[in-house]
Amino acid sequence: MSACVEISGVKIGGGHFQLIAGPCSVESKEQIIGIAERVKSSGASVLRGGAFKPRTSPYDFQGLRAEGIELLLEARRITGMPIVTEILSESHLPLFEHVDVIQVGARNMQNFELLTMLGRTDKPILLKRGLANTLAELLGSAEYILAGGNRNIILCERGVRTFETYTRNTLDLSAVPVLKELSDFPVVVDPSHALGISRLVGPMAMAAVAAGADGVMIEVHNDPANALCDGAQSLTPDEFDIVAERVRRIWSVLM
Ligand code: PEP
Ligand code: MN
Repeated sequence: MSACVEISGVKIGGGHFQLIAGPCSVESKEQIIGIAERVKSSGASVLRGGAFKPRTSPYDFQGLRAEGIELLLEARRITGMPIVTEILSESHLPLFEHVDVIQVGARNMQNFELLTMLGRTDKPILLKRGLANTLAELLGSAEYILAGGNRNIILCERGVRTFETYTRNTLDLSAVPVLKELSDFPVVVDPSHALGISRLVGPMAMAAVAAGADGVMIEVHNDPANALCDGAQSLTPDEFDIVAERVRRIWSVLM
């Protein structure tokens, strides 16, 4: 069994399963609070939302940045849900002082300076697997955080690049049992970025739980067609409600 990481009172790993949900990006106060309330009522215990967005094109929406973090903190005040949001640069660390979980995205998995800085904090870190990184490399990155004394690491499989182009990436679910064999970090699966297509998220979320994941992270948007980022893979709150129920049922079978 993996070790347990505590996210401001919410336990993940060590027999505790959590659903993390929220939009790809924080877009407005109404949007983030509205989604937070809906996913909470469906059973999500941690709210996700990007404030600093790593976008392929510099002309795409880059996130609300510091204001996005403020809005996430407001959503936390209202709903009581701890928040997870991505850091892009160690120079932004002061802005993350009140953030519950700092996410290191796929594109920064081997930003060793950033990992070293995060190792000196005591924050839970959600470390995502890089787009083309091996599991050994993911564990090497976790080691950078560990080396600074921070043991609050949660690993995240989010799909890797393969020859297959039907899905955005290929979800490597073998990562779950392998990472559990090689380490005792909790393992979360993000089927949203792996699949890229909202209707495929539910089946793979269930498969992730069956494979032994300690948590699932799912993108949810109130209006996917008009989302500023990753609308195609975002579930509506109603769709999330159904997926959350199915995921919980699979979990209860394994308990
Ligand atoms: C995200 O979680 O919004 C994100 C950008 O994910 P990834 O780093 O896995 O692409
Ligand atoms: Mn996204």
